[in-house]
Amino acid sequence: MSSYDVVIIGGGPGGYNAAIRAGQLGLKVACIEGRETLGGTCLNVGCMPSKALLHASELYEAAVSGELASLGIEMQPTLNLPQMMKQKDASVSALTKGIEFLFRKHKVEWIKGWGRLNGQGRVSVSHADGSSSELQAKDIVIATGSEPTPLAGVSLDNRRILDSTGALALAEVPKHLVVIGAGVIGLELGSVWRRLGSEVTVVEYLDRICPGLDTETAKTLQRTLSKQGMAFKLGTKVMGASATAQGVELSLEPAAGGAVEQLQADYVLVAIGRRPYTEGLGLENVGITPDKRGMLDNQQHRSAVPGIWVIGDVTSGPMLAHKAEDEAIACIERIAGHAAEVNYGAIPSVIYTKPEVATVGLTEEQLKADGRAYKVGKFPFTANSRAKINHEAEGFVKVLADERTDQILGVHIIGPSAGELIGEYCVALEFSASAEDIALICHPHPTRSEALRQAAMSVHGWAMQA
Ligand code: FAD
Ligand code: NAD
Repeated sequence: MSSYDVVIIGGGPGGYNAAIRAGQLGLKVACIEGRETLGGTCLNVGCMPSKALLHASELYEAAVSGELASLGIEMQPTLNLPQMMKQKDASVSALTKGIEFLFRKHKVEWIKGWGRLNGQGRVSVSHADGSSSELQAKDIVIATGSEPTPLAGVSLDNRRILDSTGALALAEVPKHLVVIGAGVIGLELGSVWRRLGSEVTVVEYLDRICPGLDTETAKTLQRTLSKQGMAFKLGTKVMGASATAQGVELSLEPAAGGAVEQLQADYVLVAIGRRPYTEGLGLENVGITPDKRGMLDNQQHRSAVPGIWVIGDVTSGPMLAHKAEDEAIACIERIAGHAAEVNYGAIPSVIYTKPEVATVGLTEEQLKADGRAYKVGKFPFTANSRAKINHEAEGFVKVLADERTDQILGVHIIGPSAGELIGEYCVALEFSASAEDIALICHPHPTRSEALRQAAMSVHGWAMQA
């Protein structure tokens, strides 16, 4: 039986970052991953392939919509979907091999196979050739991630009725794609296929898109996506969907009750959330019981069982790759006996639509619910010279600061490169900066980042450029 300081189950952003950090700290570490490649959901079927298609489809739309022609670039573009998928797959493959390289560099042993807890300090692994092996470890980290939440009455076949993995690998552009769920996956992948020529209808149970997102920002996003041609059916529930070789027939009903309506699509994407993945993990062998939603509880990454730790999508908190990475670092530092903490109040989140949406900290709704007195500073990208010159002036930066102390409490951006811009405010939140701090910092001209400064000035009513 091989023996380790740490054995990590799962090779996604939680698991692979934990493994690398453990290797850096001189711990003897193995990472068990059942997939053929490392990188988990994020690299294989999540963040990275979706961003590859978002990038390519954005350029395609700029070419076919006349946007490039308006800049004086004329061409007759045609879509080569197999090539678009091929370049996505090639990038994904390069990234997953990159993790293998990092494992070698940091002396992490990759154990290929499916891990199963086999008592405290013991994990058995089933390998693809049918053999199995047994590992021993002082500490075990569960980083087994998540899987798509199924919808009752709608059976996924990944031919006509797809989850996100199916929607990242379609061989043709749907004529009519129905997306169930107006969350991050639905809006990102819905945008990809709409840009490539699909009619896209998004069916959402609630009466708004992106629950949890600052309401003003969510409304602006919905308005912009509607202008781009995405249709929304809010407050609507899907009662069932039946697939044929040609397409799918859906039955819908108002969430509040009412007449049933039929909707035809040639493909359906189910994107109603993800749930923790713990199948076959042997939790019962160590006495860990998931909560109602299948989540594994943790206290500073420790499970209820000494020596077993949990990080990433399989436990509470936002299901984001960078949250899993943060937890990975803190968990391994703690295993190594160091002090470490994750600041859950400063985890950003980004929706990679056009325009992008990026947020960090509290929303106005949360501040109101907490009864906290706050000030709002807002600056529109129409008044930002760089955004204007690039014809991408939709959206705004909104800064929420404590009325008394001026401490920045939340920032919500919808606009060009919002995902890159939010980093500045993540630093601001971590350093407990005030709006005045940002307002007094020199920002380069002409950049979109000037809108960040102007919004901070606006908290005190002296935005100079709007
Ligand atoms: P995972 O990445 O799910 O990795 C878990 C790994 O464990 C998997 O590879 C699995 O095969 C393996 N595993 C499970 N059980 C076992 C076992 N018993 N033995 C061995 N191996 C096992 N997040 C962002 O921050 N930004 C984005 O832009 C973004 N885009 C996304 C787009 C899509 C379409 C999807 C689906 C997700 C996206 N996410 C994004 C979410 C992100 O992918 C996850 O939050 C992240 O991958 C979670 O990391 P993790 O390590 O906890 O789990
Ligand atoms: P989500 O939680 O973002 O959105 C799900 C949506 O489906 C919600 O609006 C919800 O109200 C709706 N819904 C739930 N049940 C429904 C039903 N029966 N009928 C109609 N609508 C229903 O989930 P997602 O879009 O599936 O994404 C899953 C996770 O992946 C997210 O938690 C997100 O953190 C992560 N992700 C992140 C990114 C990113 O960071 N850019 C991209 C993709 C995915």
